[in-house]
Amino acid sequence: MHSDLKPAVNSKPKIIWLNVLVFSITFLIAFIGVPVYSYFYDFDAATIIAFVIATGYCGMSITAGYHRLWSHRSYETNAVIRFFYAIGGAFAIQNSALHWSSDHRIHHKHVDDNDHDPYSAKKGFWYSHIGWMLREYQAHRYHDYKNVKDLQRDPIVMWQHKHYLPLVLLTNFGIPIVFGLINGNVLGSLLLIGFMRLVISHHVTFFINSLAHMWGSQPYSDKNTAKDNPIVALLTYGEGYHNFHHAFQYDYRNAIKWWQFDPTKWWIKSLSLVGLARNLKKIPEEKIARSIAQQQLSKAQGKLHSLSLPNKDELLERIEKEYEELQVKMNEFYRLKKQWLEATKDNLIESVEKSQLSKQYHELKESFVAQQQSWRVLIGQYA
Ligand SMILES: [Zn+2]
Ligand SMILES: [Zn+2]
Repeated sequence: MHSDLKPAVNSKPKIIWLNVLVFSITFLIAFIGVPVYSYFYDFDAATIIAFVIATGYCGMSITAGYHRLWSHRSYETNAVIRFFYAIGGAFAIQNSALHWSSDHRIHHKHVDDNDHDPYSAKKGFWYSHIGWMLREYQAHRYHDYKNVKDLQRDPIVMWQHKHYLPLVLLTNFGIPIVFGLINGNVLGSLLLIGFMRLVISHHVTFFINSLAHMWGSQPYSDKNTAKDNPIVALLTYGEGYHNFHHAFQYDYRNAIKWWQFDPTKWWIKSLSLVGLARNLKKIPEEKIARSIAQQQLSKAQGKLHSLSLPNKDELLERIEKEYEELQVKMNEFYRLKKQWLEATKDNLIESVEKSQLSKQYHELKESFVAQQQSWRVLIGQYA
């Protein structure tokens, strides 16, 4: 049906000159203009602070808005916050939320499939980072929004999609110029808040498609190239915990430990605490624990198979036995945890019964932790 749009064999699709020019001109202005300007003049503190806020606004509109809200529906929020994201997304020049989410849902569905994943990491760093936007690779489905029918019912998404270009121009020139006029430094504001902010927020988000699929660990799954990486998370407002994200895409968190850097999660949680977000989706702890153990087992088995040890079979058997024991303990622990949580909510249960259950629960928790510990020590030698 779309064969006329497919590239001929051995020839690459047509270059999208508008994108090439936007990316290269903004990059050159930012990386030549900003140092030259700061050599002759100085950026004042107000411009620098506004630059940091504007960069964060663009980044978080993409991660909390385009990504976790619209692409994955991992929580719900009101029209004011959605409008705030829609403006920030246009300011970040990352296409409309409708288009972005459509691409992103295809990315998850066909991850690493070079024929279908729009920014498949298997095609290399350059392609997944920026190359996929520089040629007409996606022309055959450019206006196909079948997979975002739910978003087409959101009037803010559709309003932004319809007025995307005027919104891009208004935010990208309007915000820096108005700020510059108020602050008395239009050129400095345009360079830093206009160009440098745009280039940084572009490449930082692009890292999620490139670096987050290449560099890091795979604690939850190795079914695709997605990686967990705390350094990438620092650059991407928490999206660097991408292995977790591809394993559990509907969770509003990307980092699940409190000490891991995920400001997008903190933002969403804060919104919910003040009543501005609801129905935050969380994958049950038990399911996550099972994935981690399963992944550790398969890594250790893989490693052992690759080694030429005389007692290989014995070691493999030992690991499998220990894994089975861990599973049994895990089943028991989460079953009792559920009972205990229900009991703490239920006022009808006698307090004696509750305290017995609590004692049992804490004992089992201790033995489960010990079992996990011994599993980790065993697996640590091979995984
Ligand atoms: Zn991904
Ligand atoms: Zn995603």
